[in-house]
Amino acid sequence: MLDTNFAADVVIMEEGTELLRRLGEGHRPTFTSCCPAWINFAETHYPEILPHLSSTKSPQQVLGILAKTWLPEKMNLDASRIRVISLMPCTAKKDEAVRAQLRHGEVPEIDVVLTVREFVRLLRREGVDFAAIEPSVFDNPYMSDSSGAGVIFGTTGGVMEAAVRTMYHAINGTELEPVELQALRGFDGVRSATLDLGGAIGTVKVAMAHGLKPTRQIVEAVLAGTADFDFIEIMACPGGCVDGGGTLRSKKAYLPHALKRRETLFGIDRARPRRQSHANPQVQALYRDFLERPYSEKAHYLLHTWYQDRRRVMTRTVQDIWNDITMSTKVY
Ligand code: SF4
Repeated sequence: MLDTNFAADVVIMEEGTELLRRLGEGHRPTFTSCCPAWINFAETHYPEILPHLSSTKSPQQVLGILAKTWLPEKMNLDASRIRVISLMPCTAKKDEAVRAQLRHGEVPEIDVVLTVREFVRLLRREGVDFAAIEPSVFDNPYMSDSSGAGVIFGTTGGVMEAAVRTMYHAINGTELEPVELQALRGFDGVRSATLDLGGAIGTVKVAMAHGLKPTRQIVEAVLAGTADFDFIEIMACPGGCVDGGGTLRSKKAYLPHALKRRETLFGIDRARPRRQSHANPQVQALYRDFLERPYSEKAHYLLHTWYQDRRRVMTRTVQDIWNDITMSTKVY
């Protein structure tokens, strides 16, 4: 049993380094890339925005590739016998797992994706009473520990907050105080804040959007040149992954339900002994023993990806479609 929150910490190491690099090269804004529904949306509706996307893979894919490269090396396992079954709050992760560019040679990084709802059905079918199971710790010593930053990755604004904690440390060599960034924690569809990262970077402007309507709003503002941001976090599901499309959700009391789950994540973060991704000892070991450093050549090869323009070309005119409709409903 591995923990995707460990991979979220690794994503923060890569994405935080990438964001600072791109900023240093004058590229702004940079969008986060951890949400596959957002990636699909950008590729099919706004391909002009693709050069602004971070190339860092999502936590699911980072976990998959490391489970098939780093883990067998560490545990002396036969890599060809490893299958990764991903348990996710997200239906878009199924589609992500079969993307052609997310394979390691001929081998998919992730073999099977089960949503939380599917997992619950499986447990019921097998007669497992989840509530009666004794909680226990993860049994893997290499890919199971996570920081508070990795945990809040699952809520809107959490990726930005986790990245800022690590970017601040990379720039200044000290930890951000206070560690919680209340300025990023609202729940409006689009939110923005100005933060001082210190050092040579100084002040940055960040924004967060959750849900596709707010996402469309911010993307169109960037394309029109009316948005002035350095980093933008996007999550396709309102509330973020913690209330993702593959979870058990309340349709009647959406907002209180989503906010309650979000508070749970913030509570876990507060209780963690380490609240920054770079402080996670398993992440430190990964870079020391395998990847060398964030954004190294090896890290780039294994943990980064690319996107493509998939906008559907409209070959049929509105008149063609209208003709089809009227023909199919014609009464003779
Ligand atoms: S925000 Fe929703 S679609 Fe995006 S990764 Fe999270 S659960 Fe999946």
